[in-house]
Amino acid sequence: MAQDWKKRTKLVHGGTRRSQYGEVSEAIFLTQGFVYDSAEQAAGRFEDCGDDEFIYARYGNPTVRMFEERIALLEGAEDAFATASGMAAVNGALASLLKAGDHVVSARALFGSCLYILEDVLARFGVEITFVDGTDLDAWRSAVRPDTKVVFLESMSNPTLEVIDLPSVAKIAHEMGATVVVDNVFTTPVFSRALELGADVVVYSATKHIDGQGRTLGGVVLGTREYIRKTLEPYLKHTGGAMSPFTAWVMLKGLETIELRVHAQADSALAVAQALEGHPQLERVIFPGLANHPQHTLAMSQLEKGGTVISLDLKGGQEAAFRFLNALEIVIISNNLGDAKSIVTHPTTTTHQRLTDEQRATLGITPGLVRISVGLEDTGDLIADIQGALAAI
Ligand SMILES: *Cc1c(COP(=O)(O)O)cnc(C)c1O
Repeated sequence: MAQDWKKRTKLVHGGTRRSQYGEVSEAIFLTQGFVYDSAEQAAGRFEDCGDDEFIYARYGNPTVRMFEERIALLEGAEDAFATASGMAAVNGALASLLKAGDHVVSARALFGSCLYILEDVLARFGVEITFVDGTDLDAWRSAVRPDTKVVFLESMSNPTLEVIDLPSVAKIAHEMGATVVVDNVFTTPVFSRALELGADVVVYSATKHIDGQGRTLGGVVLGTREYIRKTLEPYLKHTGGAMSPFTAWVMLKGLETIELRVHAQADSALAVAQALEGHPQLERVIFPGLANHPQHTLAMSQLEKGGTVISLDLKGGQEAAFRFLNALEIVIISNNLGDAKSIVTHPTTTTHQRLTDEQRATLGITPGLVRISVGLEDTGDLIADIQGALAAI
């Protein structure tokens, strides 16, 4: 049984469907529709479409289905639905669960577009949202109410890498009958135990570690079969957030190597963080895998390793941060993460530019803060590059 396989076997073989040609590498079924043998078969498929039957690519496609099954096996979820982007997944997960008059409690430290969906879109449709400090369990306790339908959080916040106590938040939410939706990008599907720890629905931007080589945009929502097929699928198949078969193929290939890549990146991130600790040019090195991280113990109880992203708070504010970015020779300036290439981002002036100074201060995003997504380059080369750029400030 595929469910009994170890992670690496699931990632290489899970969900594979072969055509009559017996191809080794998964086929890209680049087709928008499917031919029926008879009118009766067409009618039957619209009435009840099986897992291995397809109607139209907005509803499902064999290559996309292979990706959904493979990632569901890895996550230990009953089912999955793949989407065109991480944001289509977040929007689908939330909008499919909510209606006017419902209440949502969400952690405040969110990816900018997630914040937009809650504050600008769902609020406009009559959903009430309460934001809390995700690390404050009392804040979660006092925010949930009997009409709270969804509790939303990112398992590790961007870019300050705060870790949320998922089992405790899930318990608080479940006592009120709320559904726990977790945006799990920073935890990665390799280290994730979100479902086991109490999440009901897990969402990924597959653009990050799943692709892992910066080629395609994609997302996926995972949960119970009942939720995915009865609640999420109707919403997504009619609103058009489908993943393309080509993207699904890239993501399938990404999954084959994700375990090796993410472990190597996480080991390298820890080595980089350790090498930079106490550097005179740094106010702080933020990495959940370091013993001085405020939630190190919690992080290690939820994650196997500290993740693949580190944040550095530079002395000298934005000016020092810009000099640092411009002096790096290997680490590229961009805004993706989880990529084979190491990437540096200055959140204040890019990903979190939309926030006010006060909002950024509340989230701990200082002008000197830089986020580094550690890639697959030689660890020694990365450390030398970062130390060289710090010296150049
Ligand atoms: C990147 C990201 C998203 C959005 O994913 P896209 O694939 O860019 O749409 C959502 N949440 C988090 C935490 C992310 O890092």
